[in-house]
Amino acid sequence: MKYLKRCTYGLALVFFSILNLQCKPEKKKEAVKTETIVTKNVTIEKHDFGETPEKEKVALYTLKNTDGIEINIMTYGGIITSLKTPNKDGVSEDIVLGYNSLDQYIKSSPYFGAIIGRYGNRIAKGKFTIDGTTYTLATNDGENHLHGGLKGFDKVVWNASEETDDDSVSLILSYLSKDMEEGYPGNLEVTVTYTLKNDNTLAIAYKATTDKTTVVNLTQHSYFNLSGDFSKSILDQEVEINADTYIPVNQTLIPTGELATVEGTPFDFRTMKTIGKDIEVANDQLKKGLGFDHCWVLNDQNTGMRYAAKAYDPISGRVLEVATDEPGIQFYSGNFLDGTLTSKNGGTYAHRSGFCLETQHYPDSPNQKDFPSTILEPGKVYNSKTSFKFYVKK
Ligand code: BGC
Repeated sequence: MKYLKRCTYGLALVFFSILNLQCKPEKKKEAVKTETIVTKNVTIEKHDFGETPEKEKVALYTLKNTDGIEINIMTYGGIITSLKTPNKDGVSEDIVLGYNSLDQYIKSSPYFGAIIGRYGNRIAKGKFTIDGTTYTLATNDGENHLHGGLKGFDKVVWNASEETDDDSVSLILSYLSKDMEEGYPGNLEVTVTYTLKNDNTLAIAYKATTDKTTVVNLTQHSYFNLSGDFSKSILDQEVEINADTYIPVNQTLIPTGELATVEGTPFDFRTMKTIGKDIEVANDQLKKGLGFDHCWVLNDQNTGMRYAAKAYDPISGRVLEVATDEPGIQFYSGNFLDGTLTSKNGGTYAHRSGFCLETQHYPDSPNQKDFPSTILEPGKVYNSKTSFKFYVKK
């Protein structure tokens, strides 16, 4: 009986399969997908975002997933203008400082959300020498050169294209920095790819090639305030940095050349502590930086992509985790914010209302022979990777 039942069932299956085949229009054979089913959806959309005074059109791209992550990035400066992530109650809020309009960014911005290049951080007295030739850059930070000069990568309009995958969307920004632009040698072709993944990671991949030996040190300058409320200070938010040493600086924030242990100093972030805990401690380095404005020497160098730092806001529950293949990270506690810039939500950005975690090579490397090199030669490719992962801790 059992056997008869099975046979009837089997015959019925064959019959229906044949029927099905005959009824369906002929279709190309599709490869069988074996990977896990993606339940979340990631999308990318393009909008107009005005134009620069030079009449260059600027676009704004929205990268979104169904977990409540929504990132707006514009082609001017490759700037992340907003980044929404859910708090522990599932409410998505913007956690990066910035402005509502392009004009405000053009008028005055302390590098809010921007791609920084050619050289992130400072170069002493705006000078460096390659193969006997000395190059002179703008001194736009007292006597030093900062973040690429007067018109760095944060102030140019990038070309953009999109790419989508099963579980990620990418915005690919490219820019040709011409030979001697801002005083740097070589035509530098740069690509920065922002990828929003389904696992709530924003990955940033930097790539550059040159036709003349030059220096390169690219980074991303988002100011985070994980509370989602820019009127709140970041001093109660916690930070951890995977570094046993940091780089002390002189009065003008140029490295002294020493790598100092964090042990027993306010610079020890090897376990989570609030940014505010030691920021007012009497310490010569904190005095020079007006707070934290230093580069930490990340542990496990030359091991590729690894954990670098974490930030946590106990009230919203938001966690930001940073991974990178770079040797250093500049942790800047928003010391120069002084209440003069207009906030996206009304009001102004007060002192220490945002912090930056900028993955990079060390400051002033072109003039510091013992620091990892930032030289890029023709025929070689500059590659650098960083990721920001967002989640909540309840
Ligand atoms: C630097 C600060 C500087 C800020 C500009 C940071 O990367 O470390 O010293 O003031 O950028 O907004």
